[in-house]
Amino acid sequence: MERKLASVVVIDDIAPIPGADMIEVATVKGWKLVIKKNEFKPGDHAVYCEIDSFLPVIPAFEFLRKSSYRKMGETEGFRLKTMKLRGQISQGLLLPINVLTTNAYELGEDVAAQLQIVKYEAPIPAALAGIMKGGFPSFIPKTDEERIQNLSAFYDTYLAHACFVTEKLDGSSVTYYHRNGEFGVCSRNLELTDTPENTLWKVARKLDIAGKLAALGKNIALQGEMIGEGIQGNPYAQHGQAIYFFNAFNIDTQEYLSMPDFLALIRDNGLQHVPVLDTTFQLPATMDALLSLAEGASLLSPAHGKVEREGLVIRSADRRISFKVISNKFLLEER
Ligand code: ATP
Ligand code: MN
Ligand code: MN
Repeated sequence: MERKLASVVVIDDIAPIPGADMIEVATVKGWKLVIKKNEFKPGDHAVYCEIDSFLPVIPAFEFLRKSSYRKMGETEGFRLKTMKLRGQISQGLLLPINVLTTNAYELGEDVAAQLQIVKYEAPIPAALAGIMKGGFPSFIPKTDEERIQNLSAFYDTYLAHACFVTEKLDGSSVTYYHRNGEFGVCSRNLELTDTPENTLWKVARKLDIAGKLAALGKNIALQGEMIGEGIQGNPYAQHGQAIYFFNAFNIDTQEYLSMPDFLALIRDNGLQHVPVLDTTFQLPATMDALLSLAEGASLLSPAHGKVEREGLVIRSADRRISFKVISNKFLLEER
């Protein structure tokens, strides 16, 4: 499930911003963003670009230079970040539908490639990136989580469920697997070669993940977030590296373990899981209230000061519901 960074949407609502006469706030699904007054009306079709979009340097996007110019490696572009304007949070960008080069389009259509929009990614340090052994194994799902703002149509159907709430940690995704006698190590998108320097392999050796998975006697994958020195600026001020697991996946049945079974498995094997904040959580009535709940101090904050957590990951026990709620405070602080 790749992110749809730019897609065709309907503008759900437009409202004034108190004290502002040049700008107003648009609602698109669960997203709010500031737009120029009178550029769009509710019900208009438009192209919505999500935060983290990296737009090409072309004349049509020059208006973004002042707020968003950034290099990604050698490539110049405009990176969309969360902003606050006149006290109003603004996430993403609306473009008139005529930026599309064709007249034929469908609602929901992914138009990122057509507009040469890619995802902005910070450079990955060599020790984390490692050496590619192959693509991500086809027999394990990648560790994506959808943003609640893109699930607004389903929000009301989630209200009845009791949920597990875990803290979303800001590190790097790791997948370890044991399959038919073979042990494998993967980053977010690749399987990695066993080298002495690679951090994901080093931590696997330190925690004896290969031995622990083999002892389970089945084909299984564990997925977690690696945090610590050399990762994402080490916001939690850890020494060395640690892994906090969030998934166990049975490769033979192609099913995730339920949250209770997963937590028990991790504890029984002397490993750590991501911080659990609640096991019987019920969603508040509105998404705005949920977004406020996502803000708060990380449970991994170092002794010398609180750090804002990245957000929450919310799941039903059977995992059929699973999404992330990123803290807007975290996004505003992000550079
Ligand atoms: P994007 O920002 O484009 O959505 P990303 O790669 O940065 O992509 P994240 O925002 O980090 O993805 O969200 C999904 C990732 O969250 C997973 O890949 C996983 O590594 C990480 N993660 C951290 N903490 C948790 C948690 N408690 N439960 C599940 N996933 C978690
Ligand atoms: Mn992440
Ligand atoms: Mn992210």
